[in-house]
Amino acid sequence: MSINDPLIHPALIDPRLWGDAGLYETSINIERSPVTGDEHHTAEKKFEISHLKLDLSFDGDNEKISGTATTCLQPINDGLATIELDIAEMNIMAVRLLRVEKKNTGGLPQNLLSVIGRLEFELHPEKLVIALDRPYSRLEQLTIEIAYTCSPRKGLFFIKPDDAYPQKPRQIWSQGENEDAHWWFPCHDVTNQKMTTELMARVRTGYFALSNGELISAIENPSDNTTTYHWKQDQPHPAYLVTVAIGEYEKIGESLDGLSVDFYVYKDRVEEGRRLFGNTSKMIKFFEEKFGCAYPYAKYAQVLVDDFLFSAMENTSATTMTDRCLLDTRAVLDLDYDDIVAHELAHQWWGDLVTCKDWTQIWLNESFATYSEYLWREQTKGRDEARFSLFQDFLTYLREDWKSHRRPIVSNKYRFSEELMDRHAYEKGACVLDMLRWILGDDGFFRSLSHYLNKFRFGVAETGDFKVAIEEATGQNLYWFFDQWLHGEGYPEFDVSYDWNRDHKTLKLLVRQVQELDEKVPVFRFPVDIEIITDDPGEVIETERRTFVSDQHRQAGTGILFPLRFETAAGHLRQGESPDQAPQV
Ligand SMILES: [Zn+2]
Repeated sequence: MSINDPLIHPALIDPRLWGDAGLYETSINIERSPVTGDEHHTAEKKFEISHLKLDLSFDGDNEKISGTATTCLQPINDGLATIELDIAEMNIMAVRLLRVEKKNTGGLPQNLLSVIGRLEFELHPEKLVIALDRPYSRLEQLTIEIAYTCSPRKGLFFIKPDDAYPQKPRQIWSQGENEDAHWWFPCHDVTNQKMTTELMARVRTGYFALSNGELISAIENPSDNTTTYHWKQDQPHPAYLVTVAIGEYEKIGESLDGLSVDFYVYKDRVEEGRRLFGNTSKMIKFFEEKFGCAYPYAKYAQVLVDDFLFSAMENTSATTMTDRCLLDTRAVLDLDYDDIVAHELAHQWWGDLVTCKDWTQIWLNESFATYSEYLWREQTKGRDEARFSLFQDFLTYLREDWKSHRRPIVSNKYRFSEELMDRHAYEKGACVLDMLRWILGDDGFFRSLSHYLNKFRFGVAETGDFKVAIEEATGQNLYWFFDQWLHGEGYPEFDVSYDWNRDHKTLKLLVRQVQELDEKVPVFRFPVDIEIITDDPGEVIETERRTFVSDQHRQAGTGILFPLRFETAAGHLRQGESPDQAPQV
């Protein structure tokens, strides 16, 4: 998900202001609030949902949907007697047990056991509790149909013209992330319940309905002037990535080695849409190569919607994007939205193919998508432009750290999960990934990414899984890196001083970490590039870059914290013996 509104993003008002964050000020005015909330953990499951089929009519005039949700599930343990699903403000008409099948371990066809009929249910706050007719075993598979209607206040939005905005288009679109899918269909609204899905969307003829996966059919129903679009997503994904976007669109279709790459744009703004999405196919090829993993879905579509909550959302194979990204011929001279297009596309791997196991692990989605923006920028606009952009990301994170709050990137303390969609999860995480790339080198870094994606494809993962994937791919155990950057807080602050002895041609360099330490802010083990430039009269000006590991803090007590001596000879700097005493600098 991209959060920043493209029209009010400060970087678009004046990117130069982003460099003016007081980075080099000695006294910073910190206005940090404590992070509050309960501890959260991965959701427990009593059953595994394998398939969900939604058969729904969308009534835009009355802002209402009605139909059935059919869930195919299997108990994880023996004795499952009730099924609890997430729902919000739904009118449940009936719950039926359609089928019970015995799981056959020999690979033979499943046996149909029985057709039961109606089941009793109770409604609790945001829960539907279904009483089964008997306890079921883990070798049985149940298919349950729920008939319902609702007028969602969240999760699904109805857009239409009004007196103030008579030109507003008629649209209906969903936004599941973080936990709003259960406002428009019954589900287990957690990230670690991944299933294949189908959507039969009945809409007024003339309107198009986009959803996940492959379009199976579009059949007109002349009796009530509607059309039913049948979409099927054959790869498992969580409820928050199930999408529908209904509106009047012109389709621009491309083929990338047989993959359909489609853009759904407004009929009167086709050229602007073409400009916005124009690099998509190139990006898919680039990311496939970079990530070492083929694009995983049957198609890739992007659809524009009005009044979107965020800038864009990476539903599997069908990204929703705000129409505020459309640029006319004058605006496009100054900027583009490749960052957002690249971010959502990268999520098809980072978040969709491999999903964060719970919201505390959201950096596995968002930091990787944000760093993918950097990869695309580096590829197309060059390293300097990309580095400048990453520096802006760093400042954005720093502002949050100084002016809002500080937390570990992997943190399970929050009041509501949306709080985790912050600058730590996006920008700081992207910077951390860039450091990881530097430590591993390009070869090790990208092999690790590829190994992780292929190992956990269509599944879920947590931070430790990524750490182990790096170990398996490169042999390196980066526990110290993960401890300080993902589970620790803050960042190292350096005090650097030096003493250049002209007579002896020696340089004494003192590098100390001076950040305030506490149980979450460690002394960082930190490789540092140091550039040494000699400019003594008569000397040839030389620049030399060396990398050292700083792991000393001024509180360490030795006084000699990072002493290094260089001797120059014939204008070159060479590392010499470490001094015995702290340099007086
Ligand atoms: Zn995102």
